[in-house]
Amino acid sequence: MSALQSLAGNSHAATTATYDVVVVGAGFAGMYMLHRLRGQGLSARVYEQGSGVGGTWYWNRYPGARCDVESMQYSYSFSDELQQQWDWSERYAPQPEILKYANHVADRFNLRSDIQFNTRVDQAVFDERENTWSVTTSDGKTVTAKYVVLATGCLSNARMPDIKGLENFKGNVYHTGHWPHEAVDFTGQRVGVIGTGSSGIQSVPVIAEQASHLTVFQRTANFSIPARNAPLTEQERQAFRARYPEIRRIAREEMKNGIFQEVPDRGALDDGGNERRAKYEARWSRGGLTFMGVYNNLALDKAANDTAADFVRGKIAEIVSDPQTAKLLQPNNHPIGSKRICIDSDYFATFNRPNVTLIDIKSNPIEEILPNAVRTASGDYEVGTLVLATGFDAMTGSVAKIDIRGRNGQTLNEKWAEGPKTYLGLMSVGFPNLFIITGPGSPSVLSNMIVSIEQHVDWITDCIAYMRDRGFGAMEAKQDAEDRWVAHVNEVAHTTLYPQANSWYMGANIPGKPQIFMPYIGGVGVYRTSPPRAMRDLR
Ligand SMILES: Cc1cc2nc3c(=O)[nH]c(=O)nc-3n(C[C@H](O)[C@H](O)[C@H](O)COP(=O)(O)OP(=O)(O)OC[C@H]3O[C@@H](n4cnc5c(N)ncnc54)[C@H](O)[C@@H]3O)c2cc1C
Repeated sequence: MSALQSLAGNSHAATTATYDVVVVGAGFAGMYMLHRLRGQGLSARVYEQGSGVGGTWYWNRYPGARCDVESMQYSYSFSDELQQQWDWSERYAPQPEILKYANHVADRFNLRSDIQFNTRVDQAVFDERENTWSVTTSDGKTVTAKYVVLATGCLSNARMPDIKGLENFKGNVYHTGHWPHEAVDFTGQRVGVIGTGSSGIQSVPVIAEQASHLTVFQRTANFSIPARNAPLTEQERQAFRARYPEIRRIAREEMKNGIFQEVPDRGALDDGGNERRAKYEARWSRGGLTFMGVYNNLALDKAANDTAADFVRGKIAEIVSDPQTAKLLQPNNHPIGSKRICIDSDYFATFNRPNVTLIDIKSNPIEEILPNAVRTASGDYEVGTLVLATGFDAMTGSVAKIDIRGRNGQTLNEKWAEGPKTYLGLMSVGFPNLFIITGPGSPSVLSNMIVSIEQHVDWITDCIAYMRDRGFGAMEAKQDAEDRWVAHVNEVAHTTLYPQANSWYMGANIPGKPQIFMPYIGGVGVYRTSPPRAMRDLR
């Protein structure tokens, strides 16, 4: 541990400790950050508001929750022993298994002793004279650190919908992003699910099997591809393990989304109708996110995109028996892939069950929640339990909840009032020595997040070690570097079809949130070549 760590009294009548680094959050980002900082001999304290590690996988315990990047790739690469020894049971591991993995990592690398659970970071204030941050936590204590790392997660601030009467509902209300730790049994209940994004799409088939009746309230139909989940054989695991160094390198350096896969060399319109259909059929049968990788222009060219969207709409019509329900489930207001594409297990087929009803709340908006029903413009739907699959205030929501004050007392919320501004998604001008892992302006949610997390953690660690070794006190991006990066992120986004969707990438799911395309769409490989410039641009 570094000499910086010490104990002293403070004006809050609580003990103040001093660390090299305070890390906020103990998901995959915060855990790996702690491991790397320790490796540099730096003292670090991690604060986590939950009672355990795992972040996303600690909070999202809803039925059907699982990853949508295959587990052999949605896993840490920093320890070869870990990746050689951990056995993923399925192609897409379910939430309990991913949480078990997070706990295994915490134990294996002995992380818990530097993580304070059940503690929220409420405030971080920069002291310009000392070049340090004062960090105040929900237990009323204030600690000092030279650096603060926000590992607060892109999808960690569950969005509660503002629906009249919700507080009067008599039954249980669950949010998918804040699910209870004990098992929830829907047997014999009339359940209403509000929201049909990824969490809704994953949970609906499982809830439908238990509930006496399930009513799904859909505002926007979403594209979803079958997961084709299956147990992984030892042979499949070994095939990956044998090639892990190469697979991980290619995912990091050559892939746009950080997922190792074949790179398409043709556009959708380069093939004739039959050939194209055969390729889509093959990907549909294989299942998973690689569906969008069949051609190289699906995210760029509307006519090309339409061919894939039409194919999926056709599949929905084939699967869903009732033509009216099928029509409602067919997305028609955004290009396929411009919202995060969902991966499901029997989602569309679930609407063939006699105990499942789909209600279109775009044309019949929810007016009010009654004690035992959901009232829409077209009638009341009796429900005894409500599941809110209403997503997150993505990318900025958890950061905005912390009162962060940088130079001249400016708050980060003031600076980001018209949308987040960062250099490389890593730092924001006016907030020296404050790093964000997978912040807005980095590939983050458009990528295999563990690839992006590892890259940011490695970069931040190297940067802090560099500063320490040269005796530098503070660093921040230059204004013109940030301005150029913000403009670049925006420009690249607008060369694609992504901004055409009202998506959470744009902040469109949160009333009043500025609508700016937040993640960097240039790809993880291209992005990786950018960070060395950061060093030049920092002072
Ligand atoms: C259901 C679901 C499925 C997903 N599947 C995939 C997938 O297949 N592939 C993929 O790449 N990504 C997926 N993601 C994205 C996922 O969020 C990331 O992959 C990854 O888990 C993020 O890790 P993280 O550590 O950055 O953030 P998180 O896991 O969100 O952890 C952040 C932690 O910070 C804590 N925190 C926040 N604010 C504070 C505060 N003020 N004080 C103290 N603690 C705080 C939170 O409690 C949380 O535990 C999925 C997300 C969801 C919701």
